[in-house]
Amino acid sequence: MSGHIQIPPPQNEPVLSYAPGTPERAELKATLQRMAEEVVEIPLIIGGEEVRTGRVHDFVCPHDHQKVLATWHGAGPEELEQALESGREAWKTWSRMPWEERAAVFLKAADLLAGPWRAIVNASTMLGQSKTAHQAEIDAACELADFYRFNAYFAEEIYAQQPISDPGIWNRLEYRPLEGFVYAVSPFNFSSIGGNLCGAPVLMGNVALWKPSHTALLNNYYIMKVLMEAGLPAGVINFIAGDSSEITDYLLRQRDFAGLHFTGSTGVFHMFWKRIGANIANYASYPRIVGETGGKDFILAHPTADPEALVTAMIRGAFEYQGQKCSAASRAYVPESLWAEIEGPLVEQTDAITMGDPTDFTNFMGAVIDDRAFRKLSRYIDDARQSEEADIIAGGEYDDSKGYFIRPTLILARNPRYVTMCEELFGPILTIHVYPDDAWEETLELVDTTSPYALTGAVFARDRAVLQQATEALRHAAGNFYLNDKPTGAVVGQQPFGGSRASGTNDKAGSAFNLLRWITPRTLKENFDPPRDYRYPFMDEA
Ligand code: NAD
Repeated sequence: MSGHIQIPPPQNEPVLSYAPGTPERAELKATLQRMAEEVVEIPLIIGGEEVRTGRVHDFVCPHDHQKVLATWHGAGPEELEQALESGREAWKTWSRMPWEERAAVFLKAADLLAGPWRAIVNASTMLGQSKTAHQAEIDAACELADFYRFNAYFAEEIYAQQPISDPGIWNRLEYRPLEGFVYAVSPFNFSSIGGNLCGAPVLMGNVALWKPSHTALLNNYYIMKVLMEAGLPAGVINFIAGDSSEITDYLLRQRDFAGLHFTGSTGVFHMFWKRIGANIANYASYPRIVGETGGKDFILAHPTADPEALVTAMIRGAFEYQGQKCSAASRAYVPESLWAEIEGPLVEQTDAITMGDPTDFTNFMGAVIDDRAFRKLSRYIDDARQSEEADIIAGGEYDDSKGYFIRPTLILARNPRYVTMCEELFGPILTIHVYPDDAWEETLELVDTTSPYALTGAVFARDRAVLQQATEALRHAAGNFYLNDKPTGAVVGQQPFGGSRASGTNDKAGSAFNLLRWITPRTLKENFDPPRDYRYPFMDEA
């Protein structure tokens, strides 16, 4: 097709309220009920076909762990080989398909997510990952639709960038995809991240093997179906669940492994990086490594901070989705003068948080993802209870008799380097250190140096000079820095997301920075009048 094709300027998908009496609430409730009554069988999807291996596992509900929502099939070497072959075959046509045809698949997928699939992707996220209706809506429906629409728009901007040309010369840049496959490995905590980790490289003309987290499989399977319904050709994304280590061993050995698109914990990313490095001589090209990993996200309050705004940010920032957001506030620094004012309301509001089955819409929190997370978090709580350096001032109860429930917990740490001020816990635990009002500058230094991470952080102050000072002093402490706002809830196209230091390669998901990692440009120089004599004029006799 000839034409200067343009992507419609994207807008963020409006977040629906799910308030009583709304049509979206009625549809979501009906979908939840239907899904809770069925046991879905989740196959692999290879070359557009459903593959059942018979190596089946149960997928359960975190807030009701005896409830099996699905059974899923795990891949072995035979299926991995089939997936690789199918990807190689698909690459031949997909990598040459006009970019606007590829973009159309994602624009349509976004409309499906926002329309007929909205209740399905949200209900599966609520049941399978224990999110409330609001948390599921901002993730599975809205953020993923935003990723797909904004990525298409940014791709057009990238392709439009062309070099200058001297007279008689025509220079061009061709934005080729990578020569090989991208391995997309996604976490449990955001449905949208799964859809984006495979989607972004594929939009740019690559093929991907997508290995979802086994604790997000129900939703991720539906996302794969959305992409297929949107017209994604067979084999462009192969959906492979199974044993993470076995799959990784197999795929990283392949000569045509061309890139890793990972989101998850820092330790796992280190493992990937080392393995890729150790195998570097065996690859056909240098694999792109993109990883967004852990965080130890902070809220820093100045004596001039607005107390009510601060308390709200601490509660929403730390406890929404049970603190299982990479951006969740998990350490806070509050001056003595302000602490005297906010301690009461903070403890009171934390104790009042409703927690339980998210299909009961009055709950603010659900369960943590699995037994492993539950045990890890309860251990930190037990240790804090024993410690001389810390006190639990709210929450601290946990109960896994029905689901993996941990009460929202506030720990007051006398030692600003107490373990829960430094390590990523990934749960509903906020540790607070109260500092003397006159130790503001030392506290800035403390915030900057306490943890190896640098994902998100927030500073609360009314004084402009203080905001400016903190922005400067904490320049490298967070890839997403918030002034008088909670450190969570980044929106695609508005706050490009990602952190540096141990938090990742900071390639900003949902932005042109990320898409640039999935292309390898070719420069074409064409001469309309090439020279026909090798000698230069300066060589002539005077
Ligand atoms: P995880 O590291 O346990 O798992 C992530 C993915 O890696 C999953 O698909 C998992 O199956 C796979 N995996 C785990 N061990 C593996 C191994 N040995 N070999 C190969 N693959 C392996 O992380 P999670 O618990 O799913 O997610 C939570 C983590 O993700 C937190 O650390 C959080 O901060 C981080 N996260 C970061 C961002 C960000 O943008 N920076 C966003 C979301 C989550």
